[in-house]
Amino acid sequence: MREIITLACVDCKRRNYNNTKNKRKHPDRVEYKKYCRFCKKHTAHKETR
Ligand SMILES: [Zn+2]
Repeated sequence: MREIITLACVDCKRRNYNNTKNKRKHPDRVEYKKYCRFCKKHTAHKETR
């Protein structure tokens, strides 16, 4: 079961990415390092709802 999630930059709080994840493998909120075009750098992006 793959679920669509939204990833938001922890620095500026903007929602930059949509992603999918496996809910069985990752029941908790996940965090990815991605490029934020608003911060113009790589930042941590957290799953939001
Ligand atoms: Zn940002």
